[in-house]
Parts: sequence; structure tokens; C-alpha cells
Amino acid sequence: MAIVAPWKNSKEISGREFLSNDLRVFVIPSTINSSLFSALAQGMPAGFRSHQTTTTCFGTIQKMTTGQPHRGPLQMKITFIAVVMMLMSTLTAAAKEVVKRDVIKTSAGDVELFFIGHASLMMTFQGKVIHFDPYGKMANYTTLPKADVIFITHDHNDHFDLEALQHIQKRETVVILPPICSERIPEGWVVTNGERLDVQGIDVQVMPAFNMANKRANGQLFHPKGIGNGYVLSFGDKRIYVAGDTENIAEMKALKDIDCAFLPMSTPSTMTPEMAANAAQAFRPKILYPYHYKETDPNRLTELLKDTPGIEVRIRQLR
Ligand code: ZN
Ligand code: ZN
Repeated sequence: MAIVAPWKNSKEISGREFLSNDLRVFVIPSTINSSLFSALAQGMPAGFRSHQTTTTCFGTIQKMTTGQPHRGPLQMKITFIAVVMMLMSTLTAAAKEVVKRDVIKTSAGDVELFFIGHASLMMTFQGKVIHFDPYGKMANYTTLPKADVIFITHDHNDHFDLEALQHIQKRETVVILPPICSERIPEGWVVTNGERLDVQGIDVQVMPAFNMANKRANGQLFHPKGIGNGYVLSFGDKRIYVAGDTENIAEMKALKDIDCAFLPMSTPSTMTPEMAANAAQAFRPKILYPYHYKETDPNRLTELLKDTPGIEVRIRQLR
């Protein structure tokens, strides 16, 4: 029997084929969903039919169950193999397109960066899975790999989503968080601005993250000093900075040897493209990802930094 099924809580991603309890399972990415799936349905052995759709971060998963087959087993098998071959050849290309990631080479192995959306990121390094600010509106976290480490920057709901967090939490997951989030996750490691710590062999520097200028209508800063954290992680000889919700503060501008930086760019709560460009010109990250950019056009940052050597602005889906 062949089935294309939802595969919850597994590390399987779009385009993969695997066997489970004698069921052959395929995960179909959403970009090829409708056309491929109807082609698949037409060429499918009699009795197979589409059944269910579930959306995941990586795409749409379709499930087929068997009805009453009225062809012989051999004919059915041949038809099915043809369908599978068509499916898998299309999947390989499509899956690459769907799963957006960059690879950073380090002296201790590759870091893979996955751009989940807004401020939500996932990184893998030496077999470890590291999540930042998991947010359920950006992905179906039941389908994402479970975390070895989760970093939370602050308590705003687009950064601190307890339900999403619990979907990727294992018993041994380390949750790194600022004091303001500690009440809701008593088992977390509370860290404050300026601390330096070792998290499962990864050197972590805790940065401040706050507003200096941008205030709410009631006169309070969106992010007062001392509440939120940013994080600089060292992977081998490379340093990756995830800034959290902040402006172009002096502590950021004083950073050295940053290989990749994620800087928030949204008005009015974090930075304008001008503020982000100002910070980047000071600390010169080799690769700069604007993130949390909402309605702000990220290309504006590329434009502002076009005459600054040594900084590559990379635009990814991180609205
Ligand atoms: Zn915030
Ligand atoms: Zn935010």
C-alpha cells in the first residue's frame, strides 16, 4: 500500500521518502502541490485517492489512502512505480527550493541557517538543533526538529510563544531566556545582558537589546534597557549575532569579528534601515541579514550599504 501522509514530530522534510509500518510515505512540498498532486491523482493506481492536506513550515503534506483497487496487483505496482518516479524527480528540485537555508563554513563544521520567518530562526551545528524565538504564526512547530537549545530574546508574543516552544522542547532541551520570561519557564536558564556562558560547548555572549529613541504613544520605550537579550554564538572560528529587538546601541556598534548578523528592521519598534546601516557600518558583519522587517523594504538596507565594502546584505523571507 502507498500512502502520502502527515508525519508529525519527525525530522523528515519535504521530498523525503521513507517506510513506516509497511506504509511507504512521501512528503510533498507545497510549491508543487496542486498541479503535481492532480497529475498524481490521474496516474494513480485505481482505488488510491487523495485524502487530507496539512500545512507545515516546509510545505503541504498530502495523504492518500486506498479505496477498493480494481486492477491486478502487478499492474497496480507498475503504475505506482511510474507515479513515484515522476513524483520523486520533481520533488528533488522542488524540495531544494522550498527549504530555504544557508550554510556557513566554520573550523568546527558547517552551521546551517534556516529562515523560519520574522524573528524565528533555526540553526544546526554538529548534530545539534538550535532554535531562536519560535513563533507559531511563522511555522507549524509540530513538524520541525526538536531543539537541543532554544534562545528567547524577550517576552513580546512574536518572540515568546509558549505553545510553539513546547512543541520543540525535549526533556533535555536547554532554554536560554531573560529574567522576564523565567516565570513561565521555570526550568529555563536565566541570563542577563553582558553574561558569557558555555551552552553545550557553544560560547554564548549575552548582548543588551533596547530602544533609545522609539517610544510607544504612552511615552514608554518599546524595549526598555535591561529587559531583552541579544546573543552572539561562536561556532568554531565563526561568530553569529542574533540581535533581538533593539536599536543601533553602542554595545552593538562595539562588536568585533562578527561573521553573520541578524538585525531587526521595523519601524517604529526596532530600527529603520538607516539605523541598521549605521550599526553595520560600525561593526562590519561579513554577512548581514535584516530580519523582523515586517512592512519595511529590506532592499533599502542593500541600497544604503552598497558603497560599504566587506558587508554582504542577504535578504531572506524574514518579515
Ligand atoms: Zn519586541
Ligand atoms: Zn518583535
